[in-house]
Amino acid sequence: MRRDRRRAANNNLRTAVQVISCPNCKEPVLPHRACSSCGHYAGREVVAVK
Ligand SMILES: [Zn+2]
Repeated sequence: MRRDRRRAANNNLRTAVQVISCPNCKEPVLPHRACSSCGHYAGREVVAVK
């Protein structure tokens, strides 16, 4: 029973996708990921976007 309860909690976490706004271009981006639109993360450009 204990194992089944833990698996249900994990499923709940997976379905709740968090999205934040890029501080540079305001595009919705995944947290802890470089912006897919402008390449900025943590206040600086970490990915070169062409
Ligand atoms: Zn951006």
